[in-house]
Amino acid sequence: MWLTGVYYDGRQARAHPVTLCVEGDNLLLQGRDIARREPLNSLKIPPPLGSTPRLILFADGARCEVADRRRFADMLPQTAASAVAGMENSWWYALAALSITLCLLAGAYVFGLPYVARIVADRVPSSLAVQIDQQFFASLDQTLLKPSGLELRRRQTIEDALQRLALPPGGARPDRIEFRSSPELGANAFALPGGSIVMLDELVNLADNDQEILAVLAHEMGHISEKHALRQMLQASVVGLAMAWYIGDVSSLLAAAPTVLLQTRYSRDFERSADTFAAEMLRANGIPASRLADILQKLEAAHQAETTQIAAKSAKAMDYLSSHPNTEERINRLRGM
Ligand SMILES: [Zn+2]
Repeated sequence: MWLTGVYYDGRQARAHPVTLCVEGDNLLLQGRDIARREPLNSLKIPPPLGSTPRLILFADGARCEVADRRRFADMLPQTAASAVAGMENSWWYALAALSITLCLLAGAYVFGLPYVARIVADRVPSSLAVQIDQQFFASLDQTLLKPSGLELRRRQTIEDALQRLALPPGGARPDRIEFRSSPELGANAFALPGGSIVMLDELVNLADNDQEILAVLAHEMGHISEKHALRQMLQASVVGLAMAWYIGDVSSLLAAAPTVLLQTRYSRDFERSADTFAAEMLRANGIPASRLADILQKLEAAHQAETTQIAAKSAKAMDYLSSHPNTEERINRLRGM
């Protein structure tokens, strides 16, 4: 099969009409005063681009244009076609390299960052942890949290009950429990990075018995024992600082940090491990794990009612325990324990 083409010798601009064909591993090219026979692997044949003629680039700078793109493709042996395409010249190669780079970056973000955050979290001294929580309280008490309306005696009962509970191996008691109220956050409890637990009046009032409150505290202690909030904060800070450095403003980031942390949900894995911790701790103290399921169900119902009242208000995204996509799954899992 012979095709027609236009040949340029690379020295003069003159176009030579030629015919060409592939014979074995060689390209034959003939025209008036021209006869070339070149091994295919010495040629560069860029991949098809739009509707432009196909190009054959010779090592000595000569080139040949072939208008009949389809017959040209038929003429090239499939393996030779990809081999001579010249991997380093191909934008497919560039695309693949870019994909690999992106995958590596994503891998570092998904696996490397949590790994480093965990190591750093274990090295944060407790004195620094206390300071971190003081910062959080200073900020939260001005914004989302109000003083608790619970009687001192009621708070003391809950704290005493928690102190009496035995800890599972590796468990850590909260640095302190702080009672607050928050119409904005509704029925909620959460652990701060330094190891304090914030218990909101709304949750205490929602619970039908103290075992449900202890179940929530046990769940939060699961987060504290594994330093979930601290690890999450460290991860968010690395990403946040990188962004702030890029944007050039770190101060606004630091001011927003507490709110950002509250808005960041724990991962499904964190929730599961905190649930497992809580179930173990409750059982070891003669309390059924289903108490946590019970209160989760009530929290879910309470927050759903609120969310329908105030359609998708941003504050409603701020709770760890409720309106969580996995709440249903968590409840079923706890009931099965
Ligand atoms: Zn949780």
